[in-house]
Amino acid sequence: MKLYNSATRIKEDFVPNHPDIVKMYTCGPTVYHFAHIGNLRSYIMEDVLEKYLRYVGYNVKRVMNITDVGHLTSDADEGEDKMLKGAKREHKTVMEIAKFYTDAFFSDCAKLHIKTPDVVEPATNCIDEYIKIITKLMDTGYAYFAGGNVYFDTSKLERYYIFNDFNAEDLDVGVREGVEEDNNKRNKNDFVLWFTKSKFEDQALKWDSPWGVGYPGWHIECSGISMKHLGEDLDIHCGGIDNAFPHHTNEIAQSESYLGHKWCNYWMHVLHLNTNTGKMSKSKGEFLTVSLLEEKGYDPLAYRLFCLQSHYRKSLVFSWENLDNAQGTYNKLINKIAALKVGDGEIDEEACKAMDEKFRFALDNDLNTSLAVTALYDVLKFKTNDATKLHMIDKFDYVLSLGLTERAAKKREELKKQAAAVVGFTIISESGETDAEVEAKIQARQDAKKAKNYAEADRLREELKSAGIEVTDIPNGAKWKRL
Ligand code: AMP
Ligand code: ZN
Repeated sequence: MKLYNSATRIKEDFVPNHPDIVKMYTCGPTVYHFAHIGNLRSYIMEDVLEKYLRYVGYNVKRVMNITDVGHLTSDADEGEDKMLKGAKREHKTVMEIAKFYTDAFFSDCAKLHIKTPDVVEPATNCIDEYIKIITKLMDTGYAYFAGGNVYFDTSKLERYYIFNDFNAEDLDVGVREGVEEDNNKRNKNDFVLWFTKSKFEDQALKWDSPWGVGYPGWHIECSGISMKHLGEDLDIHCGGIDNAFPHHTNEIAQSESYLGHKWCNYWMHVLHLNTNTGKMSKSKGEFLTVSLLEEKGYDPLAYRLFCLQSHYRKSLVFSWENLDNAQGTYNKLINKIAALKVGDGEIDEEACKAMDEKFRFALDNDLNTSLAVTALYDVLKFKTNDATKLHMIDKFDYVLSLGLTERAAKKREELKKQAAAVVGFTIISESGETDAEVEAKIQARQDAKKAKNYAEADRLREELKSAGIEVTDIPNGAKWKRL
């Protein structure tokens, strides 16, 4: 498989460090608000990557953090802790907010068929890990104490910028508009590892540390959690493109300075979902959520299809019109699959191989999901029996996770019911006579059967029998005679 590596800016052959396991780390949500569908685009594409690695036979261990402390309103360590902001907004405690939005996040993920990572770790669980790393960084001179906080000294590195060739002026994060410069920093890109003094005295969560009571910076959390669960090396690190700088850049700086060797081999960044007014953002107030899509009558899986239809390295523009189109495509796809006959023939292994090759060809090329969706349509057109097609659709859907098999089965049931309703239920007597009372009882028995109330159906049959009426089921109806 070839995967574009943002750290080298080329598509590389993916080769894991260890033959038996792929170690994958994902930056999780900051749980001060609902996830917007932009955040979820990143998680959908990362989910496809994880599932495809499993599909081709890798054993994957995927770890994700939950940011419940330390992520300030500016990524340059300025402003208020986002969690505190959320708690104030809702007059709740930080931990209540964290629990509520973590649950909401996983409920959204479930609706989008995003698998929960093998390990999900709240940042507040790993304080000892961060202290261990920061202590060594202090001892080895990579970190310094100033104005009450512990900072990472970026001037100690030969190469700080990893993901881009920006010049330092462009990335002057300390003096971004509306953000006050932190005079404690020796270099403008130095970042906080441990806060003991924040501008907000009422910081809710604090822990003891060798540098005083305080809390960790956002960046150290991902390094600490990754090392706790995946050890000293990592195959793939994922996140949205906004995480590349400063978050991932800082993660690399502190992790490699701490470890003394290379940390992560492949960096996957998902480009943003934008609206026609710009980037979607939680801090902007109004934003699009999965619940809103549902309220408007969309199937969350139609949104997943919308994401799969474009490449993760291209930014994607969301509009209701685009989502309408995706919903229409999704419905048609389900109808086509529902029209295939279940159990129609033996699985044709040769055909499976040919279809699978197309699917792998698409995803092996830096996760080309739109081509993988085309490979799915090709299955429908392939000259083979329906059993083989359904088998391959189910296989592909392990990766695409569009609920194809399950939704098509539901559709088939609906169609069956509709057909039965059209055909109706005919009651005839062998003698040709009519009897309203007998017919009403036979109809009631049929209604009970339809409602799966078999006890009532049997009771009515016995009642008819006691009245000297024998009932026999016939296709789409019943026949009766007097004994
Ligand atoms: P956050 O909850 O803000 O920490 O972000 C969670 C994830 O969503 C991170 O990987 C971000 O990089 C990513 N992300 C944020 N905004 C967008 C967007 N508009 N489109 C795609 N991904 C995003
Ligand atoms: Zn992270």
